[in-house]
Amino acid sequence: MTSPAGGAVPVALGRRDRAPGPMPTGGPLVDRFGRVHTDLRISVTDRCNFRCVYCMPEEGVPFLPRAEILSYEEIARVARVARELGVQSVRFTGGEPLLRHHVADLVGMVAALGFDDVALTTNGTGLATLAPRLAAAGLQRVNISCDSLRPERFAAIRRRGDLATVLGAMDAAEAAGLTPVKVNVVVLAGVNDDEVVDFAGFARDTGRLVRFIEYMPLDAGGGWRRDEVVPAADILAAIAARWPLEPQAPTPGDPAPAEVYRFADGAGAIGVVASVTRPFCGTCNRLRLTADGSVRNCLFSDDERSVRAVLRSGGGDDEVAAVLRQAVWGKHPGHGINDPGFLRPSRSMSMIGG
Ligand code: SAM
Ligand code: SF4
Repeated sequence: MTSPAGGAVPVALGRRDRAPGPMPTGGPLVDRFGRVHTDLRISVTDRCNFRCVYCMPEEGVPFLPRAEILSYEEIARVARVARELGVQSVRFTGGEPLLRHHVADLVGMVAALGFDDVALTTNGTGLATLAPRLAAAGLQRVNISCDSLRPERFAAIRRRGDLATVLGAMDAAEAAGLTPVKVNVVVLAGVNDDEVVDFAGFARDTGRLVRFIEYMPLDAGGGWRRDEVVPAADILAAIAARWPLEPQAPTPGDPAPAEVYRFADGAGAIGVVASVTRPFCGTCNRLRLTADGSVRNCLFSDDERSVRAVLRSGGGDDEVAAVLRQAVWGKHPGHGINDPGFLRPSRSMSMIGG
């Protein structure tokens, strides 16, 4: 594991030396390693209209039965309790969140709870139509996934949809005020890694923050191989050879997964999400709610607790809070992808909510 400069990078595993003690029954959502959880990812559906090669197989994807999916009222209730426990930011995801009917209604219900940051990740189809409604409901910004700037390659990676629609979605998002628009690019060795510099040029031309994401072992087909991962160090080196980069100091208190680098000439910035080669578990503040109502403390851990059971059996807010607290308390210090005994989680990215 190397840094952009080539030196060894320690895996940030958090404050492992902290004595566990009993789980707190009040105060913020803190884990056994002192990490305070202030960010909630809400998956609103496991369905998707794309079949990206790194996420879903082309055919035969089993989806959750509708009866198991949380209603908007149920999701908003969990979000309200999370807000009361100190969660400050919320992101809607999936599957493809814009496929869920009237999703702007849910955005409105959750935004009304007073989160500081309300964001959504989308593949971009459907956004051009929905952007004004989402913005009016209280959505603040979007991340849009786009893995190639070449139409044929875009179609080959995402298997459905088209590049022009997704580029149009970025314009529509900006027109609706859903800014800053961030562009997620999953970089795959031998597939689109030759476009890293093109994407950096796109970031410079458009002012959008392009975030290069390392391929993670979360594809539903189980085909992930380490040699398909393009290390963030290589991505940064390729860009810096063309346009020198300067690391941007992280905003205090903002444990966003992307490391951000500014172009030295001031023409914008790019980010890398180096989940595989430079894990950022030590500052992870994320908690996830799956579409079927499980609370997960990590993308890579199968440790999840059902809040749906509480919601549908007449449980009180204190019981909902207890599920959130227990989920956080059970969190491991790191995701362990690089450990010899690493086991892939049983749910894939689109089933958890990326
Ligand atoms: N459907 C929406 C989309 O594609 O933006 C939201 C859900 S998707 C699961 C969220 C993000 O996860 C996307 O940026 C996607 O590219 C990324 N992603 C999916 N599978 C991945 C994998 N195996 N490794 C890294 N990123 C992945
Ligand atoms: Fe769908 Fe997003 Fe997964 Fe692609 S990455 S298949 S758009 S959920």
